Amino acid sequence: MSDASSDRDENSLYRVLARKYRPTTFEDLVGQEALVRTLTNAIDTGRLAHAFILTGVRGVGKTTTARIIARALNCVGPDGEGGPTPAPCGVCDQCVAIAQDRHVDVIEMDAASRTGVADIRELIEGVRYRPVQARYKIYIIDEVHMLSNSAFNALLKTLEEPPEHVVFIFATTEIRKVPVTVLSRCQRFDLRRLTQDDLQGLFSGIAAKESVTVEEEALAMIGRAADGSARDGLSLLDQAIALGGGKEVLADQVQAMLGLADRARIFDLFAAVVRGKVPESLEILGDLYAAGADPAVVMQDLLELAHFLTRAKLVPATLEAPGQPETERLRGRELSERLSLASLARIWQMLLKGLGEVQTAPIPLQAAEMALIRLAYASDLPSPAELVQRLNGAATGGAAPGSAATGAGAGTAAGGSPAASEPAASAEPASPATAMSPPPMVSAERGLPVSDGAPQAALAQPLAHPLAEPAPYEDPEPQLQDQTPPVSVKPQPQSFAEAVALVRAQRETILANHLMDDVNLVRFEPGRIEICVRDAAPPNLASRFAAVLEQACDSRWIISISQEPGATTLREQEREEEAGKRAAVMQHPLVKSALEVFPEAELVARRDPQEVSAAAPAENENGEGEQDA
Ligand SMILES: [Zn+2]
Repeated sequence: MSDASSDRDENSLYRVLARKYRPTTFEDLVGQEALVRTLTNAIDTGRLAHAFILTGVRGVGKTTTARIIARALNCVGPDGEGGPTPAPCGVCDQCVAIAQDRHVDVIEMDAASRTGVADIRELIEGVRYRPVQARYKIYIIDEVHMLSNSAFNALLKTLEEPPEHVVFIFATTEIRKVPVTVLSRCQRFDLRRLTQDDLQGLFSGIAAKESVTVEEEALAMIGRAADGSARDGLSLLDQAIALGGGKEVLADQVQAMLGLADRARIFDLFAAVVRGKVPESLEILGDLYAAGADPAVVMQDLLELAHFLTRAKLVPATLEAPGQPETERLRGRELSERLSLASLARIWQMLLKGLGEVQTAPIPLQAAEMALIRLAYASDLPSPAELVQRLNGAATGGAAPGSAATGAGAGTAAGGSPAASEPAASAEPASPATAMSPPPMVSAERGLPVSDGAPQAALAQPLAHPLAEPAPYEDPEPQLQDQTPPVSVKPQPQSFAEAVALVRAQRETILANHLMDDVNLVRFEPGRIEICVRDAAPPNLASRFAAVLEQACDSRWIISISQEPGATTLREQEREEEAGKRAAVMQHPLVKSALEVFPEAELVARRDPQEVSAAAPAENENGEGEQDA
């Protein structure tokens, strides 16, 4: 159609960048190394399929890849003598014609607009004719999943016996909607979603070629907004370049263009909220709003920051990722070091709830303010851990009741190695105390071999959650799992509860839940369990239970079904036990007075003191300089 220079004259700048820098060789394809390697090998060895299917999210380069394949197959080289090549020359008639979308033997069709059987018939009419100019006649069908069933059937006949000179290349965003009869006749390539690094690298390269200076932060914002799609990102970059007068792209321009809140201010806001500074928090939110930021976007940004800080805490390399602006690295480190995992998890949970409210509230700004106020107050409230710590302190005449901040400060000073001061808890097997889910930091530290009874402690670890329904934000197992020392001796459950805990530790959550809810234990001895199964249980429960146990214990387990009624279910036992303890807690004077001050408050979770005193140092979340004089 037109080359890059005439594209410049058009008003649509979007087409300029996306077209101008559309990759024309496999080498230019960003982020698809695996696909390129496979295709290159296939072409080099001449083992080419007659049908390919390319799948991936929108904008990752499916049709671009299809065109490169078309070129690779039809390129004849600068001298007109070459064969199929993984590195098409780009200068021969074939390459040029394909690049300009005017090659008679490369036929493109968008199945989104032509879904019917007639369209496909018309298209494959030409299949039996030899290519006019090229080696292969290539049919590129985009969004192939949109074809009707009859259209697929018509296509299938051709796919079953494709003529030598025909190659089909399908592209789809929804591979699951493509019939398996079609899939089975295609070589499949998955184009992966582009990472933030891929995108930023691509954009900064293109900006450099365009002689436009783009601030690093602006690149990062565009990269995040592009969400894995090179095409979307390039379109945004186009707009940003247009806004910046074609010379430079500034972060605040992009920020305004995307309706984003200022990154630095988001850090300020987050810090103010977690320090419990309500007026400051509301002022920053107000400023952001006045500057055009959407309250929902502010909440999303805070959530993203909470995630970033949590990740930074567990994976310090997060902070060092290339493209991470210096300010974010420094402030991120500071905040992530100061906040405990438990606090971060709680912040995440509360922000997530707040975001939902902001999205549904008639006046989003008000909902955002309320959410931040709640969060600020939560950061100032003593955590249950601190409550009990204070309680213990009061009992021994220790810490005087003070503000949460001073209490937390004391926690830091004393909290060198909480796990080391708690060897008893580490070495103890799955008693009801360890059964309550411990806060993340503690379980991480407890995973380390701090006590002499290391093997036993390691054994206790997978059994540590037999009865507890973990509180929503206290399930750090996936990240922390690797810190658990390897279990060398296979565990041998000594009770039904332990056996079910073992099932849960094998990540058989559904089975474990059925075992807790729908099974009455009749008799237990190691290796042999008799159970009475309720109707709600799946029919293969006994055999699954046996299989999982055998695998976990490396020994044979016989599970037999009995008609005897058996004991109450584990869930019922758990509820009774919890109800008893809860009643006791509610009677405690400190809890009673807390409920008087906060009548809306609710006892969400209860932990045993042993847990809690170990948790206290990790709960520290209030900043320095907060001590009351
Ligand atoms: Zn060529």
